[in-house]
Amino acid sequence: MTEQSQRFSLAGKVVLITGASSGIGAHLAQVAATAGARVVLAARRVERLAELAARLADQGGEALAVPLDVTDRASVEAAFDAAQARFGVVDVVLNNAGIGQGQRALELSEDDWRAMLATNLDGVWRVAQCAAQRLVQADRPGSIVNIASMLGLRVGMGYSHYCTAKAGVVQLSKALALELARKRIRVNAIAPGYFITEMTGGYFDSEQGRKYVHDAIPMRRLGELSELDGPFLLLASEAGAFMTGSVLAVDGGQLVNNL
Ligand code: NDP
Repeated sequence: MTEQSQRFSLAGKVVLITGASSGIGAHLAQVAATAGARVVLAARRVERLAELAARLADQGGEALAVPLDVTDRASVEAAFDAAQARFGVVDVVLNNAGIGQGQRALELSEDDWRAMLATNLDGVWRVAQCAAQRLVQADRPGSIVNIASMLGLRVGMGYSHYCTAKAGVVQLSKALALELARKRIRVNAIAPGYFITEMTGGYFDSEQGRKYVHDAIPMRRLGELSELDGPFLLLASEAGAFMTGSVLAVDGGQLVNNL
């Protein structure tokens, strides 16, 4: 390994990933393991996590599956306890768990609004705070990577609750970066554009979806999950040692599309 590529290594790090049971989280769990991390896979669907943990172990990695509901403080604490008991203090958190059901503003119920904010904003805060408290207590440096969205920086029809939560994640990332810098904990965010996962479903296979991609995304294509690897490793590893409070757009240029 060259000195340069070594800076992107996660060897010796404990990385906890929320929402590791599918999509972006499951993909980046594989990336973290390949980069040498001991990986803690956390989500509600534990059977999926167990399968992924077994796959990573087959490849020579070390992974632990833990049940986690980010809306529940006791569940978050228990997941960090389990991680710590097996691997030691969590060094890196990928705060990725999220929901994305769209609903027009006029039809949005109290429950829809609350569920969105509870998972996509409160959950990110709760996991970040728990991670940071444990790092400070152990007097260790760390990195928190929050998955926001380009919809935290712009808005989209039918997503007032999602956009509000993700804008909160952007601001939370910056505010935590400020407060935690002297504790040697970096906090950054990634703002993805569109990637095919269970969240985006089959929309992009439809005629309407294809037209949207053509018209709205300057690169005229969706993202490949592997195109998140570099941004994640940069923020998680020593390669990003002087970065905190950053928001990296990974969106094929959608945030700079023509107005
Ligand atoms: P998926 O639906 O594939 O994954 C979402 C993950 O979040 C699942 O693993 C799910 O696990 C987990 N999750 C949901 N609620 C909870 C909860 N209460 N506690 C713990 N885990 C939970 O979607 P993506 O991979 O696409 O989404 C990942 C993140 O990326 C989200 O934050 C999303 O907003 C963001 N994003 C995605 C984009 C895309 O185009 N795909 C674009 C921009 C941002 P389980 O149900 O097992 O708990």
